[in-house]
Amino acid sequence: MNDTDVAIIGAGFGGVGMAIRLKQEDRDDFVLLERGGDFGGTWRANTYPGCQCDIPSNLYSFSFAPKSDWTRAYPLQEDILEYLRDCARRFGIVPHTQLGCELLDAAWEPRSRRWEIETSTGRLTARVLVSATGMLSEPYLPRIAGLERFAGTSFHTARWDHDQDLTGRRVAVFGTGATAIQVVPRIRERVERLYVVQRTPPWVLPHVDRPVPESRQQLYARAPWLQRGVRAGVWALRESIVLGMAHDARMLKGHELAARAMLRRQVKDPELRRRLTPTYALGCKRVLLSSEWYPAIASENVELITGGLREVREHSIVSADGREHEVDTIILATGFTPSDPPIAHRLRGLAGRSLSETWRGSPQAYLGTTVAGFPNLFLFYGPNSNLGHSSIVYMLESQMEYALGGLRALRERGADAFDLRPEAQAAYNAEMQARLAGSVWNSGCGSWYLDRNGRNSIMWPGFTFEFRRRTRRFDSEAYRFTPRLPAALEAEPADAGLVPA
Ligand code: NAP
Repeated sequence: MNDTDVAIIGAGFGGVGMAIRLKQEDRDDFVLLERGGDFGGTWRANTYPGCQCDIPSNLYSFSFAPKSDWTRAYPLQEDILEYLRDCARRFGIVPHTQLGCELLDAAWEPRSRRWEIETSTGRLTARVLVSATGMLSEPYLPRIAGLERFAGTSFHTARWDHDQDLTGRRVAVFGTGATAIQVVPRIRERVERLYVVQRTPPWVLPHVDRPVPESRQQLYARAPWLQRGVRAGVWALRESIVLGMAHDARMLKGHELAARAMLRRQVKDPELRRRLTPTYALGCKRVLLSSEWYPAIASENVELITGGLREVREHSIVSADGREHEVDTIILATGFTPSDPPIAHRLRGLAGRSLSETWRGSPQAYLGTTVAGFPNLFLFYGPNSNLGHSSIVYMLESQMEYALGGLRALRERGADAFDLRPEAQAAYNAEMQARLAGSVWNSGCGSWYLDRNGRNSIMWPGFTFEFRRRTRRFDSEAYRFTPRLPAALEAEPADAGLVPA
């Protein structure tokens, strides 16, 4: 069986970034496993029309790999995908990568002090496992009465069926989140009729996306320090939003007024406007950016369905008021499963229990990265590390440095393994929950930030620089270390079987 020092799962921003950082630290003994056929992670999975990031381009890249030629102020999906592919090539990650290789099971083996990993293409062992599988690529498929009976075409936005030509079709889009508001304006003109099924109206702010002139791109290429300065400015400006989100929602009043003003300007029909007006605090769900959403909804060939769906029939959808609408295609823009990620069912720790069994619906970690009872495991973009206001790449880079610190700590201590002290995890999570209790994300709306137990296991409750500061150093005192095995024992076959704790 192949053995490697570090196995990284997932070739999105987290996995590619960690691979690059290992390379930069002259560590060559690692593999990057990716179930898809390409790099890119969520930007590979999501190819729906209009797919674009709502974080400015200048902020949405690795700090160690600036990109001067973003074509738009907010990066397009295809440009981000190409950026990640390019990073993988440029930094020599490709030879370490196995595409089309899905992790099926990974169990910590206390005897050999290795992760025993089973994949769709074979088995391997690794001393350290980095799970960088993201939150936003596994579709959430809602249970809607009759959906399985539907005889037309139907797909989730993260599995967009590009063979389906929507021209002249009657289409229903379920959901009005960040994905739907990008899809709907793009497909509206093509389709004959569009039904948008809204459960909760989102808060929508005007979008200021624009092309980046070539002269600016050239300037950034010639003067990278200038782009770094702009990046720092954008980052600082966005940090100020945390004050409103995490501390005092009254500071978001300006955003609310801007959102209401756009709705008034763009939707003249008072009844439609009423149905589009959110009834919860701005920020509770992700705030959306679009200047095209309301005009699309107010178009002649679009109908907004509110008040729920009664059922889906073979060729139609039936709204709660009993009206039946014939449709050819249903597009599920219903989001993802961030608090029940598939990977959590496949990673098994000291007690032989999976992460999912350990979490019982409420993911918990320490610094969003390590979990008690799961030695030598780093989770990237793990529990309570999500942001609503800034770039997740910044958080991921913080986690990468923390993981590198963990690898260094193992070496310096002559240890085989580290395991987080349960009391460190408990204290950290008590702090997270206490801080989140007063935040806008916990102010009463339903969102994907809340897990099935109603606990907010998704959001980071502070400034990103606080997360950076807390992850700068691998705080060994929060961990128990297992001294290195004598070499003779280490040579034992790794398939000796799982030893229960
Ligand atoms: P989402 O925010 O979870 O939205 C899912 C939508 O589906 C919501 O409107 C939800 O309604 C609705 N829905 C769920 N179950 C339903 C049901 N049974 N019946 C009717 N409607 C149902 O998912 P998303 O829009 O894919 O976005 C997920 C996240 O991905 C975003 O928050 C963001 O972090 C990221 N994203 C970012 C961008 C970007 O950068 N621009 C673009 C896309 C996605 P409720 O609101 O009532 O739950």
